[in-house]
Amino acid sequence: MVGQFGGQPIFILPEGTLRSTGKDAQSRNIMAAKAVAESIRTTLGPKGMDKMLVDSIGDVTITNDGATILKEMEIEHPAAKMIVEVAKTQEDEVGDGTTTAVIIAGELLKKAEGLLEQEIHPTMIIRGFRLAKLKALELLNDISETVDINDRDMLEKIAMTAMTGKGSETAKEGLARLAFEAVKIVSDNEGTIDKDNIKIEKKQGGSIDDTELIKGLVIDKEVVHSNMPKKIKNAKIALIDCALEVKETETNAEIRITSPDQLQAFLEQESKMLKDMVKKIAGAKCNVVFCQKGIDDLAQHYLAKDGIVAARRVKKSDIEKLAKATGANIVSNIDELSEDDLGFAGLVEEQKIAGEEMIFIRECKDPKAVSILVRGGTEHVVDEAKRAMDDAVLGIIAAVEIGKAVYGGGAVEIELARRMKEYAETVGGREQLAINAYAEALEILPRTLAESTGKDPIDILVNLRSQHDKGKQSYGIDVINGEIADMKKFGVVEPLKIKTQAIKSATEAAEMILRIDDVITSKSGGGMGRGGPGMPGGEGMEDME
Ligand code: ADP
Ligand code: MG
Repeated sequence: MVGQFGGQPIFILPEGTLRSTGKDAQSRNIMAAKAVAESIRTTLGPKGMDKMLVDSIGDVTITNDGATILKEMEIEHPAAKMIVEVAKTQEDEVGDGTTTAVIIAGELLKKAEGLLEQEIHPTMIIRGFRLAKLKALELLNDISETVDINDRDMLEKIAMTAMTGKGSETAKEGLARLAFEAVKIVSDNEGTIDKDNIKIEKKQGGSIDDTELIKGLVIDKEVVHSNMPKKIKNAKIALIDCALEVKETETNAEIRITSPDQLQAFLEQESKMLKDMVKKIAGAKCNVVFCQKGIDDLAQHYLAKDGIVAARRVKKSDIEKLAKATGANIVSNIDELSEDDLGFAGLVEEQKIAGEEMIFIRECKDPKAVSILVRGGTEHVVDEAKRAMDDAVLGIIAAVEIGKAVYGGGAVEIELARRMKEYAETVGGREQLAINAYAEALEILPRTLAESTGKDPIDILVNLRSQHDKGKQSYGIDVINGEIADMKKFGVVEPLKIKTQAIKSATEAAEMILRIDDVITSKSGGGMGRGGPGMPGGEGMEDME
């Protein structure tokens, strides 16, 4: 960076710093952001293609999940990274709609590029986009339908739509039912649901149809001692977060053993202490123990003798879920364990799943936490099935949380664009151009879905628009058959939150990128990725809001 002072150049940035300014910086940033959006565009919808991602050590991921793809791509360009952030936010906030959000962000920037070429100032574009965003949120609310936890049919459709393109299409109905049941069980009367109370585990082997909802929990542990029963009916469960061991002697306390008798006495005392612990547990009429810490070999032996099943080193998070599922209190001191602290499960059993032992805690009464064990023949299938299940559960939760849903297959976006264009006319001025551009950008979703049908996308879009002009709001694209259809009948429904969040984060990212007119990359601060920033500075753009 060079300034002029009395004819002398003044260097204010270290040598080697790369800089691009003005239109140059802007167009490079927009290009990078668009490239990210373009890279995942073909994965959208039920006919979306998969990507095969191979990492540096040769591990393969096959998916069409936008968030997963972008995570694996290790994108470096700073503006492109902002688009990746859009996907991350979407994933964290809703759990679905990542491709949607990224595609919208890319398209907004593409439209903005067109406006910039017409010499419309970025601040004007940003202002228009903001107005459009607020209007979009308002319109979305009008377009949506209400839904609550008792709308099984609607919620299962939401689950099925969420699973689109992931896992086996044939198993979708069954998986959607399990997802609904899981959410229904853990939802409280006010309809608040904590996703953490639904544990989704995966285990390779069997087939997707073997996927199971456990009204309780499944934990990836085995029963600690071979003499313990493998199956207990009417389980009375103790949850213990301290070790069933005799504490190691303190390092500074020395035990002097001078005769064999003393050693014997010492060992006997230790054994008695362990025996007493087990006595306390058995005395509380408990027959299953889950311990967060270790269980001494001898204690295991005594537990087994009393017919008590035990597992050790159970994860803290699992212990907490077990408390919710079985109604047990977590106990930190064996001396304080009483019958009141025990939880209940109709059945606790160890089962071999694909060659590995797991413990199932089943048939809990009114459990506040449940597990879904996802199965699938190969690693890739089971991974994708788990992602599908995650999306299904999150979709239902998102719908219930806000209490609103919209029709998918491009229906909501076409309607939104239509109403947005009407709104633009009322605004006028240069903002009108930006709002119109925003409306057109939203049509990228139906357009992409239409393209994925393999039929003429223009025909489909023209048809779709004319249905919406006639007031048929729920008409969208039946991607499989390549024609327009009523998504209400067709059962393509999505939680409103997917759309509102996508609009919010896509617009914010587009704004942020449009606001940048100067990219300064220090030499040591890591590269700008391939392509890098250009050196020749464009004309500076001052006065950027
Ligand atoms: P995202 O990462 O954005 O969730 P998806 O690949 O899951 O991307 O595609 C979601 C889009 O596909 C939504 O617009 C949704 O309405 C649409 N969609 C899902 N299922 C169908 C279907 N059966 N027919 C038509 N469109 C569908
Ligand atoms: Mg999706």
